[in-house]
Amino acid sequence: MNLIAFEDLKNKSIRYVKGVGESRLSLFEKLDIRSVYDLLTYYPRDYEDRSRIKNIADLEPGEVCSFEGTVVSNVSEARPRRGMVISKVSVRDSTGKITAVWFNQQYVKNSLAVGSNYIFYGKADRKLNKLQIVNPVFELVGSDDMKKSLKIFPVYPSTKNLGQNVIRVIMQEALKTLDGTQMEDMLPGNIRKKYNLSGFVECIKQIHFPESFAQKEEARYRLVFEELFMLQLGLLNYKSLAADSGFGIRFHKPPEMDSFLQALPFELTAAQKRVMYEVEKDMESENVMNRLVQGDVGSGKTIIAVLALFKAVKCGYQGALMVPTEILAEQHFKSIKPLFEKYNISVELLSSSQPKKQKQWVFEGLSEGSIDVVIGTHALIEAAVQFQKLGLVVTDEQHRFGVRQRTILAEKGQNPDVLVMTATPIPRTLALILYGDLDISIIDQLPPGRKPIKTYTVNEAMRERINKFIREKVMQGRQVYIVCPLVEESEEIEAKSAVITAEEISNNVFKDLKVGIIHGKMKAAEKEAIMKSFVAGEISILVSTTIIEVGVNVPNATLMVIENAERFGLAQLHQLRGRVGRGAEQSYCVLFNQSKSQVSRERMKIMSQSNDGFVISEKDLEIRGPGDFFGTKQHGLPELKIANLYRDIEVLKLAQESAKELLELDPGLKGNKKLKGYLSNYFGEKVTLA
Ligand code: ADP
Ligand code: MG
Repeated sequence: MNLIAFEDLKNKSIRYVKGVGESRLSLFEKLDIRSVYDLLTYYPRDYEDRSRIKNIADLEPGEVCSFEGTVVSNVSEARPRRGMVISKVSVRDSTGKITAVWFNQQYVKNSLAVGSNYIFYGKADRKLNKLQIVNPVFELVGSDDMKKSLKIFPVYPSTKNLGQNVIRVIMQEALKTLDGTQMEDMLPGNIRKKYNLSGFVECIKQIHFPESFAQKEEARYRLVFEELFMLQLGLLNYKSLAADSGFGIRFHKPPEMDSFLQALPFELTAAQKRVMYEVEKDMESENVMNRLVQGDVGSGKTIIAVLALFKAVKCGYQGALMVPTEILAEQHFKSIKPLFEKYNISVELLSSSQPKKQKQWVFEGLSEGSIDVVIGTHALIEAAVQFQKLGLVVTDEQHRFGVRQRTILAEKGQNPDVLVMTATPIPRTLALILYGDLDISIIDQLPPGRKPIKTYTVNEAMRERINKFIREKVMQGRQVYIVCPLVEESEEIEAKSAVITAEEISNNVFKDLKVGIIHGKMKAAEKEAIMKSFVAGEISILVSTTIIEVGVNVPNATLMVIENAERFGLAQLHQLRGRVGRGAEQSYCVLFNQSKSQVSRERMKIMSQSNDGFVISEKDLEIRGPGDFFGTKQHGLPELKIANLYRDIEVLKLAQESAKELLELDPGLKGNKKLKGYLSNYFGEKVTLA
């Protein structure tokens, strides 16, 4: 038997497939199909099930289906306007009657005979309260064609002048070239065996022209597995080459750990306990910890960082906590310092806006080891920051940092353990891929006593009522955020709009109330002063830009009003909204939607219906489409042809596991030249495989 290699198909132009001439060649090129391999992996986006025959009486509007019926009238033709011909015919079975309608399909008139039986396949539709079927395909009962048609048909993403039937025929021709050959399988045999995956050629045939839906699913499973396996293998290989491998630190359980836990003002939730257990296990092993902690806003990620830092320091190491904003650094510093001081752990703050002298002092403390824990912004990755014995690196709100920044900080120690914390802007599925080298822990539970935030979408007509609501809350002693529209590209304009808003409301509607303002263009000291007085309750209404988005914790703030909410991403709205609902009081979020578009309305609806960050970011992804989000441009990853990141999460996990196993047995894929070649081809120039 003839053995075909992957490259053979990759290098063979579709010009060699029967039926592809110059003009079709260029049409296929528009779909990015050049080689036979490209064609064979051009997967159907859907299928037509022509195998199940329904009764006419059971047809539902909107349903795509087959039925068998007798033609009971002559085909009538109408020409309502130039260039349009509408053909109609009545069809009946023992259960009912239906009209079949075709637009501009004049062949129909001479193809249907009164009194004969046909199988029709098409979409049922209700028009003027009567059921009809539009542009159905049909076959005479008993004919050979009909036997062929009683199957599952592939539906491809098509393009102008390259219709379904042409693609189907060409695909069949391409598949014929595989007959009587055997193809080298890129999925290692042991993995195929372990997960019971069929061979590539068989799957390719079944995915295009399945004999049954079960077989199609089986084929799809393997192809999805392969795609995700290759993606993971490439990423993991790339990352393991990039990382300086070596042994990590073996932390132990310090004797003070229990008393420290006891002294906390609350008991950990079950989810926090589970995540903490996973973190401790990692820290105690000799491998370097690389763990991502995902948890919705308010789920209590900070305490996990605190406990891990405590452990590291009590085992004789230093720890660093990096956060994206100065406000957040400041806040963490204030809440963590008193906890640690009682246990003789020295904590310091480092940010770019500190006076030089202060920074210098922190640098020294870190390099000689008199500072145990440093909390800071990007300032931490500056070259001047040297540690005496860095054992643990924690990054909070990881999505604000690049992978590179995380690595730079970790390189300041000798294989320190790394803990990465993020809320949800990256859906779980995507996180698994982008952080392919990280283990993931999820805090899927909020601390007890939280009431879900009530979210309302409003328009300008509601302005007065909302203002009244704001006043009401302030009178009850609560505090309010007003978030100004997001202005991408320009922090300057964004700041300006906040300034204008703050001036306007403090001169008019809320003249008698204490209004404050905070934005990214203010000096750190100013911001700090404002936050201080907001925390102290001296400011009732805080007008802010998006800088308030991450991490800020003021439990007495129970209302957030967001202007031009339609400009924000849903994940970002969810982050913003997470600033309220942090105490026992009922909290509210009001979204001013200034857009009338359908998509905006849908997006706002999601916000009012769900308080679950995971759901929201996945919905966001769904509405925007994975193309936008999982854009190759953004992440430098190859495009997924068949895997779906919502549906195939379980397969992704298995594929990741298998890729890890393979790389453990064969680091750098030195013994798998073919696979390595395939990967370089698959990743193209996007990820350089050393
Ligand atoms: P996030 O995950 O958004 O970073 P934080 O760590 O800021 O959340 O925690 C939010 C709030 O919940 C803080 O005020 C924190 O003290 C409190 N908190 C955290 N864990 C618990 C718990 N187990 N029980 C009660 N309150 C908790
Ligand atoms: Mg946080």
